[in-house]
Amino acid sequence: MIKTSANIKRVVFEPAALNYPLGKKLYHAFRQKGLEIHFTPSHNRVICVPGKSVQESFVEAKRTLVVGVRRSRHLETCKPSAHYQLPLATSCPAMCEYCYLFTHFGRRPYQRIYVNLSEILELAAEYIERRKPEVTVFEAAATSDPIPVEKYTGNLARTIEFMGNQPLGRLRVVTKFTDVANLLGLDHRGHTRFRFSINAANIIKRFEHGTPPLAERLAAALKIVKAGYLPGFIIAPIFYLDGWQEQYRALFQEIARQPLLAEHNDLTLELITHRFTKKAKTTIETLFPKTELPLDEENRTFKYGQFGYGKYVYPAKVKTEIESFFKEMVAAYLPRAAIEYFI
Ligand code: SF4
Repeated sequence: MIKTSANIKRVVFEPAALNYPLGKKLYHAFRQKGLEIHFTPSHNRVICVPGKSVQESFVEAKRTLVVGVRRSRHLETCKPSAHYQLPLATSCPAMCEYCYLFTHFGRRPYQRIYVNLSEILELAAEYIERRKPEVTVFEAAATSDPIPVEKYTGNLARTIEFMGNQPLGRLRVVTKFTDVANLLGLDHRGHTRFRFSINAANIIKRFEHGTPPLAERLAAALKIVKAGYLPGFIIAPIFYLDGWQEQYRALFQEIARQPLLAEHNDLTLELITHRFTKKAKTTIETLFPKTELPLDEENRTFKYGQFGYGKYVYPAKVKTEIESFFKEMVAAYLPRAAIEYFI
C-alpha cells in the first residue's frame, strides 16, 4: 500500500517563473528550506521525479512541486458546475484511490502552481466581458484541490477578492482540505461559493488517503459559513456498496447537527455517483493493487463521454435507487438545501 505524505521534497522551476515576483520569492524560500531545486524548460515536462516502481514514482510525484507560468489564452469549459475552469494549480498532495484526475494526469500527478496569476485573472476578465450581460461562473478546483498549495501562492485568496470586484463574475471552489484561515477575512462580497467535498466516514477512511476526516471538513465548512461565503457540499463519488444507505444517512445526520449549515437558506448540494474510465481503472489497479473500489465493468453501463472516452456508470436502475434515497435524505435532514445536480 502506498504511504501518503503531504511534504514537498523537491521543487521544479520553469526559468520563466523567476521573472515574476512570486516565482522569485518561492525560489529563495525553497532554497532556504534546503529543498531539492530543479529546472525544466516546460512545466509540462518534468523528468527529475525518481522512483524504482510505478508506485514509488507516484508518491515522489505527489511530493514534487512544479512552479510554472500558464501561457494558454484558452479556458476550458466546466460542465455542470460552472462555465469555465480557472486553473490556479494542478493536482494535490492527497491520494484518493478514485481520484478524478487520474484520467488526465495518470501516474505522475506532480503538483503544479502558477506564478502569473495577474495574467490568468486578466483572461478571466476577458471571458466575463464576452458573456456580458450574463454572469460568468468559474470553477477554481477543476484540475486541483487549491487549498494545500495556497500557503505558497495566496492565489485563491487573490482570485476570491478579484471576483468580489466583478459584478458579473462568480467563483466556485471545492476542497477536501481544511486550512481556510487566510480566506476568512476576505472581501468576497458573496461572489464565491465554497463547497466541501465529503463522503460517508467509512469511504473517506478506506479510499481518501491523506485527506482530513469528515469532522474536520465540517468544522472548516462552518468557518466558511461564518465568514459569509455561500456554502455547498459535493457528495462524491457516491458508492453503491454494502450498507450504503446507513452510511449516507449517518453523513446527512452529521451535517444536520450543525444548524448554521443545515438551516442555511442558500446551501447547495452536488451529487455525483461513482464512475470510472478504462484508463483510470488501469491506473488505479497499478497504483493500488489491493484496491477495494468497485471497478467491475459487468456491473456497470458504458456511457460515451464528451471528450471521446467513455465511462462506466451505475446502471439506470441503481442510479434511480440512489437518487430517490438521496432526495429522501435531503428532504429529511437538509430541507432548505438545493440539489444543483445529480449525475
Ligand atoms: Fe484527487 Fe481531490 Fe483526492 Fe486530491 S483530494 S487526490 S484532487 S480526489
